Amino acid sequence: MKIFKTPDEVINWKKTIKSIGFVPTMGSLHEGHLSLVKRSLLENTYTLVSLFLNPTQFDNQKDLDTYPQDLICDLKQLKKINVDAVFTPRYKDMYPDDYKYKVMENDLSQILCGKMRKGHFESVLTIVLKLLHIVQPDQAYFGEKDYQQLQLIEGLVKAFFLNVQIVKCPTVREASGLALSSRNRHLSPEGKLYASKFFQILRSHSTPKEIIQQLEEKNFKVDYVEERANRRYGAVFYEGIRLIDNVEI
Ligand code: AMP
Repeated sequence: MKIFKTPDEVINWKKTIKSIGFVPTMGSLHEGHLSLVKRSLLENTYTLVSLFLNPTQFDNQKDLDTYPQDLICDLKQLKKINVDAVFTPRYKDMYPDDYKYKVMENDLSQILCGKMRKGHFESVLTIVLKLLHIVQPDQAYFGEKDYQQLQLIEGLVKAFFLNVQIVKCPTVREASGLALSSRNRHLSPEGKLYASKFFQILRSHSTPKEIIQQLEEKNFKVDYVEERANRRYGAVFYEGIRLIDNVEI
């Protein structure tokens, strides 16, 4: 039996009982995803993880077709850490309207990754809204690796009065500094090591223009490097794989 002596103890205990933590993912799980899941397990009574490769957020069919997928391995990893529930819907479950209805944002979603990937954030916001409505979590966990996405989701929650707390989780990296990403599986072993130069250069004390030049000299194909509100964002291609990252400045 618990004995509480202060109001805060009661309030904090109430928060921890029967709370649902939710971690939306596109599968092909790595330690970055698992850091969100582990945090949710610590902070909630139940944790639900969704594995849904959302086709509408890909602007390129080849990128969708080659996106890594391994359901058995994902389930094994989630079972090992005692996740309570996994949600693996199909396209028709999530899109009974066949994507006729969409969430639009006309500011932050149009720059950085949104400039190059038309309709990407529209789709991300739409699927996140659908998932949040279905799961009705108390807390939903998102990674700072996708910082623009995180900010847009915070905006979505505010705009539509969603009753959920968004929890920001730090980027998990390889020892080399490369941010973990499902797409890294497509890099060669040497490429994976070399790709860490992207983060090393991105976090240097140079201007975006100088950083772009340094990245190009190192054979990265630069999509963008831009600064916005104390944060530097970058996206590059290496061995044909799109890598994104961001650092506080
Ligand atoms: P994804 O499966 O790529 O859609 O990612 C699902 C969630 O995991 C998103 O909130 C991502 O920001 C987060 N995530 C992906 N990679 C990492 C990472 N390296 N560190 C922390 N969070 C991550």
